[in-house]
Amino acid sequence: MNFNSLTTNETQKDLISIAEKSENSAHWSVSEILSLLDAPFNDLMYRAQCVHRQYHDANGVQLSTLISVKTGGCPEDCGYCPQAARYHTGVDNQDMLALDDVVSAAAAAKAKGASRFCMGAAWRGPKQRDMDKMTEMVRAVKALGMETCATLGMLKPGQAQQLGEAGLDYYNHNLDTAPEFYEEIITTRHYQDRLNTLQEVRNAGINVCCGGIVGMGETRQSRAGLIAQLANLNPYPESVPINHLVQVEGTPLYGTAALDPLEFVRTIAAARITMPKAMVRLSAGRQEMSEAVQALCFLAGANSIFYGDKLLTTGNPETDRDRALLDKLGLHAL
Ligand code: SF4
Repeated sequence: MNFNSLTTNETQKDLISIAEKSENSAHWSVSEILSLLDAPFNDLMYRAQCVHRQYHDANGVQLSTLISVKTGGCPEDCGYCPQAARYHTGVDNQDMLALDDVVSAAAAAKAKGASRFCMGAAWRGPKQRDMDKMTEMVRAVKALGMETCATLGMLKPGQAQQLGEAGLDYYNHNLDTAPEFYEEIITTRHYQDRLNTLQEVRNAGINVCCGGIVGMGETRQSRAGLIAQLANLNPYPESVPINHLVQVEGTPLYGTAALDPLEFVRTIAAARITMPKAMVRLSAGRQEMSEAVQALCFLAGANSIFYGDKLLTTGNPETDRDRALLDKLGLHAL
């Protein structure tokens, strides 16, 4: 795609030089990403589409199903999370699911068209007895012919390797937000702890799924800072979930001023442009989004969704509604 043929003003010229950069996996400064987020909306969408079409099936969407294998009672203090034991959100502490229940849920998700099955647990990090059960689950889901993903919190040295040996394809661990805003949201673990876990995952040869949450009261600059952190991981994540805060009563972030939906779309576009080969996942918060906003997110380069009636504890559009939306937009499952 020749961007030069389309230049009419300085803004577009700036966008072009940034577009060319995305092909070289260069270092992204926060100000460069901010200039993407500041760009005229049409220019930004056009850029994102050009990058998207260069690297991906333009009308393909990957479907991932998420299940909570251990819900509630988490000792951490993530300000958005209904599973933190310290907040009164009505989410009870439940025991770990039995292996058979997880396998049945994975088989049902596969039958409905999901290609990846993600297992989440509300832990600071897994203990060894948890690892024994998790590796069993990973092996069993993998045996169904699905891609496997897990999100279990911080990993100690050696744990990623155990998961990898069991057949784990992806490990999810989000950076959540920009470093300068992070302590407003979480105090029980540090940004560097997250980076360390991501490095453990990389070292074990497991694909990295890492993104963040927007709509937590952060500035556009902080959204740029989050995208810069993700894009500058070396290599950048294979899978980048962009979540919109789901406000749950009882969590500290309940009542945060709502984010303009177009800011969310812009964030997706910036993720697409700066991490061209990644699967950008439209994640939590989709239930509260109109079909039009979701369509704009796909146009901005999102090519993966969580698919299933429930996320870890919050709602998600029903699979039938999702199928209808994909059909309406002429999108197909990858
Ligand atoms: S986001 Fe994860 S680590 Fe944070 S409180 Fe919730 S379950 Fe615990």
